[in-house]
Amino acid sequence: MKVPVKTPNVTIVGGGFFGCSIALMLQKRGMFPLVVEAEDELLMRASRVNQARVHGGYHYPRSLMTAYRSRHNYERFRSMYREAIVDRFTKVYGVSRRFSKVTANQFEVFMKRIGAPLAQAPSRITRIFDSHLTEAVWVAEECAFDCSLLRERCRRDLDEAGIPIRYGTTVKSALQCSDGSAIVQLSDGSELPATLVINATYSGLNVLTSGSGLEPIPLKQELAEMALVELPAELDGLSVTMMCGPFFSFMPYPSRKLTTLSHVRYTPHLQWLEKPGETIVDPYERFSLLRKESHFEYMVSDASRYIPALRQARYCDSIWEVKTLLPQTEVDDGRPILFRRDPAFPAIIHVMGGKIDNIFDVEDEIDGILQSNR
Ligand SMILES: Cc1cc2nc3c(=O)[nH]c(=O)nc-3n(C[C@H](O)[C@H](O)[C@H](O)COP(=O)(O)OP(=O)(O)OC[C@H]3O[C@@H](n4cnc5c(N)ncnc54)[C@H](O)[C@@H]3O)c2cc1C
Repeated sequence: MKVPVKTPNVTIVGGGFFGCSIALMLQKRGMFPLVVEAEDELLMRASRVNQARVHGGYHYPRSLMTAYRSRHNYERFRSMYREAIVDRFTKVYGVSRRFSKVTANQFEVFMKRIGAPLAQAPSRITRIFDSHLTEAVWVAEECAFDCSLLRERCRRDLDEAGIPIRYGTTVKSALQCSDGSAIVQLSDGSELPATLVINATYSGLNVLTSGSGLEPIPLKQELAEMALVELPAELDGLSVTMMCGPFFSFMPYPSRKLTTLSHVRYTPHLQWLEKPGETIVDPYERFSLLRKESHFEYMVSDASRYIPALRQARYCDSIWEVKTLLPQTEVDDGRPILFRRDPAFPAIIHVMGGKIDNIFDVEDEIDGILQSNR
């Protein structure tokens, strides 16, 4: 049943998975949000171009908090978005003998600690690995999501909730009024009054802070490539992630019915930091200027040392996006959420989830903020 539209009092900047989900959360808590999205469709940027992994904790053996939260959120995400979940594949994790930041034993102990199921891989799987380079291989419990189906779900939920969306419109800035509320300025020249502005623009977080004359949030930006391949028959139905360091991963990419191949060393083409005192360059602009010459050959050459059959993977295409990280992730590769009320402009909240299942952590923060406002 459609809910009648009331005059919006909250502007959500960004119609990615986080912006859409936050709009729904606020609406359920009695507010009237409006979503403003620069693209002509929802979930077209990072929420579409990613590795599609619903993290089960295995990827973060150096960050207890991220691994633990992933495990905690995993089943919840699976059941809440079940129509977008793809799990008809075997998820395999391996630990490299060389250059790995964890040993096989440490990996096993850690997964036990966070309650992540791990079983010794059967020989039909271990035999695809080069045993000189690979210390251990396990079957894990981890699934993927189909971004097209997630988009359909978000679109339907917003529609049923009666939440309006302004497509093809960019928020340029927000001005602070004397009563603490905001005037949001749009690319079409119009303005929206708002008591609350959620900056859910991911890579664009600081384009909005700098447009509004606010201090930038320290962020690391990365122009990332994932190759899309067809796996050889020998690897059909498998997905492998090699831990923990400069290694590779291949995961189903359900919306294209292909597999992404990514590599810690070759997926990033360009990286830079955004920090206070420096001019902010629009990451999307930088992205559009990048000469997109694939690193697939480097990726596959290195990965096939561990799994020789990968050499037969057929390159089909590459998908590219700006990946945004909090600088502290350099230390332990963790993916905490950013949830920050702007100190100079409290009507703006900046939100960034380092991974898709972090949405539940955002929900906890929103409840905290609404309670403190009462
Ligand atoms: C290469 C890569 C691999 C990843 N792999 C995984 C993975 O396997 N699993 C996982 O859980 N996570 C992964 N992530 C992270 C995950 O994709 C993000 O955490 C998530 O998509 C962020 O959602 P979002 O809504 O914040 O961002 P987005 O989906 O990027 O949404 C932000 C939206 O804001 C819009 N926008 C920006 N500026 C403005 C403006 N000024 N006005 C109006 N609209 C604006 C953009 O058009 C965009 O639609 C990966 C990310 C990348 C880039």
